[in-house]
Amino acid sequence: MTFLQGIAASNGIAIAKAYRLVEPNLTFETQTIEDTASEVSRFREAIAKSKAELEAIRDRAKVDLGADKAAIFEAHLLVLTDPELNGPIEDKIQSDKVNAEAALKDTADMFVTMFEQMDNEYMKERAADIRDVTKRVLSHLLGVQLVNPSMIAEEVIIVAEDLTPSDTAQLNRQYVLGFTTDIGGRTSHSAIMARSMEIPAVVGTKTATEEINNGDLVIVDGLKGEVHINPTPELVEEYRNIHQQFEAQKSEWAKLVNEKTVSADDHHVELAANIGTPNDLKGVIENGGEGVGLYRTEFLYMGRDQLPTEEEQFEAYKAVLEGMKDKPVVVRTLDIGGDKELPYLQLPKELNPFLGFRAIRLCLEEQDIFRTQLRALLRASTYGSLKIMFPMIATLDEFREAKAILEDERQKLIAAGQKVSDSIELGIMVEIPSTAILADQFAKEVDFFSIGTNDLIQYTMAADRMNQRVSYLYQPYSPSILRLVKMVIDAAHAEGKWAGMCGEMAGDETAIPLLLGLGLDEFSMSATSILKARSQIKKLRKADMEKLANQVLNMQTTDQVIEAVNAATK
Ligand code: PEP
Ligand code: MG
Repeated sequence: MTFLQGIAASNGIAIAKAYRLVEPNLTFETQTIEDTASEVSRFREAIAKSKAELEAIRDRAKVDLGADKAAIFEAHLLVLTDPELNGPIEDKIQSDKVNAEAALKDTADMFVTMFEQMDNEYMKERAADIRDVTKRVLSHLLGVQLVNPSMIAEEVIIVAEDLTPSDTAQLNRQYVLGFTTDIGGRTSHSAIMARSMEIPAVVGTKTATEEINNGDLVIVDGLKGEVHINPTPELVEEYRNIHQQFEAQKSEWAKLVNEKTVSADDHHVELAANIGTPNDLKGVIENGGEGVGLYRTEFLYMGRDQLPTEEEQFEAYKAVLEGMKDKPVVVRTLDIGGDKELPYLQLPKELNPFLGFRAIRLCLEEQDIFRTQLRALLRASTYGSLKIMFPMIATLDEFREAKAILEDERQKLIAAGQKVSDSIELGIMVEIPSTAILADQFAKEVDFFSIGTNDLIQYTMAADRMNQRVSYLYQPYSPSILRLVKMVIDAAHAEGKWAGMCGEMAGDETAIPLLLGLGLDEFSMSATSILKARSQIKKLRKADMEKLANQVLNMQTTDQVIEAVNAATK
């Protein structure tokens, strides 16, 4: 039995066999072959196995993802059985007396280069198909297994070095019971998505992919951040009990689903949800969300190969607004960059992507992208209670410029006879220290603030949120962070505006008493944290939490703050 300590990224316990989502090694050596006839048969056999595999993937994709998405595998099958490709490979085995791997690779490379040089998008895509198919045939020649997460058909725990947000979005909840990764932190986007999908997860284990083999029995303890590999039957039994207790606790919280969130001394706050796609709405409703406090629209742009059209976006925004009836929905404009990449924009690689050309910076430069999104939002605005929020605002000039573009699109739509709501609130994310410090000036011009602590903490502490070696600096209860949060809330209130928080801190059990005391109006969190937070707030008195907050603002360290919160809330 082996034990790994990581970072608890998503609540819950999962017990299942491991499925390694790790690219296999496809390197080989060129060899001289005497018996070329049997080498040709070996090649044909690899083609046959690849064909059977691709047909199965295609059939599964048709059912799970629809015929559109399955079409890519049809294209791969055509390439795989194309005599124009296979003929030259077999000829090469015979004439050059080389192994099938070498003949395949050389011939495929030649076609790929040829297609890539053509000035024709269709042919360039064929080059990508050939590359994919070659990998598959090579894997069969070498006797290694390519990873095929879409083919998982039994309950598993995914083990990966890292999962991108789009990998995470494709995980099938029916079979993927949990995941664990080598890298990542509590606020990396795969962790955030795991929470919204209710998949227990432990990230930042450093060595999960080294220690875990395919088929090992694994326990993912998303409550404590622990991973147990090939546990004893006693430990499995213990964890089955913990799992049951956790489920029982959840049923208790579920009784609060239709209640308002009020403290023991009758102060109301709003508990809203963070979502990534319209599909997350079901979870928001089931967990009694009083609104959507953050709709991360960038997921609409990810996991595809071109920008979403205005119409596609309009449909998504409309679905969310209608789904929430008249409850508030805060939609954040495109926040791409950092760990959220859009390969098809072909942006140059940056040394410090979290400090680079991202979010509003990109939108103000690439205005076509920004304006398309704003038009879709404005058109959807009549279907519910829409609030628009700009991410990563560092200066008032950025906010004013973004607001002017929104106004320009609004006027154009109205002039064209389009109905647009006249009560859309306009706010900003406060996630850059300069904006928190200047919040009093921003408060004169915005309708609301939403504090993005995932980034605010990373920028204040100068600690990359993806890097587990500096994850100890993710300190939401540090007096430095709490002072910034207070500045923002006070600045909003001084101008009669509201302040929310949509970073992960808003759903954190230790932070909630402090945020209530500091006067936060709206707490936006993973939907699955809402009922627990509601149950906690009902037991707290706001007046007491104000005293606690004042006390901790003058403390020196995070540990002192944690101790004070524990003492005041036990
Ligand atoms: C944040 O930075 O706190 C936030 C909510 O935005 P994201 O996690 O998407 O960067
Ligand atoms: Mg952010």
